[in-house]
Amino acid sequence: MSKILIINTGGTISMTASRRGYVPDGAAFRAQLEGMDLLKAQPMPQWDLIETEPLLDSSNMSVSDWNRIGGMVADHYGSYDGFVILHGTDTMAYTASALSFMLEGLDKPVILTGSQIPLAEIRSDGRTNLIESMLIAAEGRAREVCIFFGGKLLRGNRATKYSADELIAFVSPNYPPLAETGISVEYNESAFLKRERKPFRLQVLEEIPIGVIKVFPGIQFSLFDQIMTEKLKGIVIETFGAGNIPNGGSELLPIVRKAMEHGTVLAVCSQCPQGTVSLGAYEASSALAEAGAVSGRDLTTEAAVAKLYYLFSKGYSAEKVKKLMETPICGEEKEKQHRRSRR
Ligand code: ASP
Repeated sequence: MSKILIINTGGTISMTASRRGYVPDGAAFRAQLEGMDLLKAQPMPQWDLIETEPLLDSSNMSVSDWNRIGGMVADHYGSYDGFVILHGTDTMAYTASALSFMLEGLDKPVILTGSQIPLAEIRSDGRTNLIESMLIAAEGRAREVCIFFGGKLLRGNRATKYSADELIAFVSPNYPPLAETGISVEYNESAFLKRERKPFRLQVLEEIPIGVIKVFPGIQFSLFDQIMTEKLKGIVIETFGAGNIPNGGSELLPIVRKAMEHGTVLAVCSQCPQGTVSLGAYEASSALAEAGAVSGRDLTTEAAVAKLYYLFSKGYSAEKVKKLMETPICGEEKEKQHRRSRR
């Protein structure tokens, strides 16, 4: 019989109402799980529950929490067939992205899930999300970091929170679901991550100073001059469409050039959830490429942020980070198309 470890980190699934809104309640949640006969019935796997201290609303998660969660998976890696991480929905896609990089050589399912309605409430979506995640983790087919939510198993580093109130809260617009649940669980095996065999190890992340800038009509880039100093190691810039910025970047370019001289890596992502950045497709993006920015291609902002933390934590030079930002590591971006030679 498969054995899985449930790691509770907090989030709505384990919350109860307080005078100031929902807060995590570990004791009540533990008692609830232990009292759920369904979790002991066939064909549920054997399971143990551990929790992070303190339990968090995921909007409070930071790099040290990712390290704590990754450490728990690593410490118990040999003793379980799979892991279910209960997590708030707000930053679940960031944590899933970070773990996908940190858990190098992962060969077991690590499934993040949670709910929009606390498990303690009658209409909770947490019950199904939890049970399906446990079964999928126990089955052991999707051996990568995933988010299971609202009937869909998504690659963690491709997912993004899409709805603040619907029960299907996550989408992965640039990658198909790894599985969908209906009367049965339909796996999409061809979408599973194909990785090279390497031993499992945890890469701990450092609190690297990085930033995210979202462009908008009328943005005054000069205001960012003050923060684009050598202290900043990486910036994700969320641009329009395929990588375009206002005024072809005339105002931004001197700042970008200065940042490049400092060794800051500027990764260009898109505000469009679907599609790919294509620097140079328009004049409005050519300047970014000429100044040395790298294309975030079809990365979500969540994955781009996590990837910058990861690559700098590995101690790589800015040049190497730039190269790897455009290279898929664990399915977070599409493979580069090799140009066909013209006849
Ligand atoms: N604020 C909550 C959290 O992210 C929202 C949720 O879990 O749905 O922890």
